[in-house]
Amino acid sequence: MSPEVSEVSPTLRSVTDTAGIEIAGIPAADEVAEPSPRRRPALSPSRAGDFKQCPLLYRFRAIDRLPEQPSRAQVRGTLVHAVLERLYDLPAPQRSPEAARGLVGPAWEELCAGIPELAGQLFEGADDPELPEWLESAAALLEAYFRLEDPRLLEPAARELLVETELASGLLLRGYIDRLDIAPSGEVRVVDYKTGAAPREAGEVAALFQMKFYALALLHERGVVPAQLRLMYLSAGEYLTYEPDEPELRRFEHTLEAIWLAIRTAGETGDFRPNRTRMCDWCSHKALCPAWDGTPPEYPGWPESVDAPVDEPLLDRME
Ligand code: SF4
Repeated sequence: MSPEVSEVSPTLRSVTDTAGIEIAGIPAADEVAEPSPRRRPALSPSRAGDFKQCPLLYRFRAIDRLPEQPSRAQVRGTLVHAVLERLYDLPAPQRSPEAARGLVGPAWEELCAGIPELAGQLFEGADDPELPEWLESAAALLEAYFRLEDPRLLEPAARELLVETELASGLLLRGYIDRLDIAPSGEVRVVDYKTGAAPREAGEVAALFQMKFYALALLHERGVVPAQLRLMYLSAGEYLTYEPDEPELRRFEHTLEAIWLAIRTAGETGDFRPNRTRMCDWCSHKALCPAWDGTPPEYPGWPESVDAPVDEPLLDRME
């Protein structure tokens, strides 16, 4: 499908603007930026995934909003996403691998300007020899991107697109789509870039969950079923394309409503149970987790509204 231009991209959202998860030691955007309108809590693909994985993890992230330390791999994901967004600001003939490489440094500087502590968290100062190696690894992912598609032949309809829609049940869905392509025929394609390893079966299910979430939100917002959901795994140099249909998305809507009902039920009592699995090895909150002999902070209660502009955190975008 060959998409056509239909919309100018928003500028790169800063790290703190997107932070539903706080970065360690750094206040959330709503504490440092202009006051934003308070919003009802919404469900994002990331938070739904958290709750499915471990209800207590959901609580720590979405309700307590405990800070988390980003990893280099996660921040590299954010960096690559930022460059891919910027790349499409260039006139089509200029979208070369060299141009993408040239955007890495400025995008990194912008991330660091948004979070001055970030470089120090990831590296031992600006002279750390591992910093250029890490930036080079981001450039390598961008080179891999060019082996998957030619951005000179594409004009995305939108990048970093906020989708926000309310279901008949009152459940508010909210998330960001990396890229939306619309073909001259009107067919819609949702594109998501992944910088982590291509998933095995379980990871693939999780990735498709995210894509179906976006497809359902678009169906509600625009009345169209996306013709394709495309996950681009840059490091593996492969992509996965899925073609949803409306009955499937309607069934998925019931799934999301069931998840939200379970979240709200837990939210009323604070009974968010830990689910100890191998995923705990990647959890930043083990020390506070009763499944690991920790004690959680006192439950702050269900937030009837939140300040954060979105519920799609930085760390999720970093995979
Ligand atoms: S350590 Fe494991 S069980 Fe505890 S909150 Fe984290 S993911 Fe859940």
